[in-house]
Amino acid sequence: MKCTVVGMWGGFPKKNEPTSGYLVEKDGFAILLDCGSGVAAHVQNYIDLNALHHVFVSHYHYDHSSDLGTFLFSRMINTQLKRVDKQLNIYGPADNDVKSRVDKVKQNNFHSYNKDSTFQVGPFSIKFHKNAHSVETYAMRITDDAGHSLVYTADSSYRKSLARFAEDADVLITECSLYEEEDGEKMGHMNARDVGMLAEKAGVEKVILSHLPHYGNLEELAETFRKVGAGEAVLAEAGMEIEV
Ligand code: ZN
Repeated sequence: MKCTVVGMWGGFPKKNEPTSGYLVEKDGFAILLDCGSGVAAHVQNYIDLNALHHVFVSHYHYDHSSDLGTFLFSRMINTQLKRVDKQLNIYGPADNDVKSRVDKVKQNNFHSYNKDSTFQVGPFSIKFHKNAHSVETYAMRITDDAGHSLVYTADSSYRKSLARFAEDADVLITECSLYEEEDGEKMGHMNARDVGMLAEKAGVEKVILSHLPHYGNLEELAETFRKVGAGEAVLAEAGMEIEV
């Protein structure tokens, strides 16, 4: 499978660089992980909105879900224009408000999930891990029909269970919101040292540092990672393609 980083900033987008969004594709089939600010506009650099029918949302913080409404409207209008005749499926943690927003537009379907859920969508199997964050949030593990796997942490403090969930993944896209002197446990996020430990415990060789902070020297995140984590780590960039 191939994963394209649509956006990777924490909190808010930069000019032409969205917050969280990752397009995962195989054999002409696509799913989107998270739809933060700017993702609906920028994902169109890689795929037509009418060819994308599955959006998995990790949690309802704005930097992961604020473009949800944009996706709902695009499917509603493009259905009226007869440019698409398939429903858009939104998968997220149970939430009555989100469910009613999605269900209000008949071209869209809401599917809630929890830590025990598994979805089989096209060539992908998707499983979830409940994270340590300020709202209900899930990491996702996507395995394709060839057995290759991608883990996306979304937002979380470090947990051993998250390392077990990511075990032996071919690629780990992990949040790396903080520098090593900042306390990830308190913030519901991971610092670069936590991320190194996560990758090391999970035995992952290829790591993408994402959900990046808007301050400091980002290269220091990768340097700290290398002191702790065994594998190779690169900073996520908008438009980056990752072979999994
Ligand atoms: Zn969050």
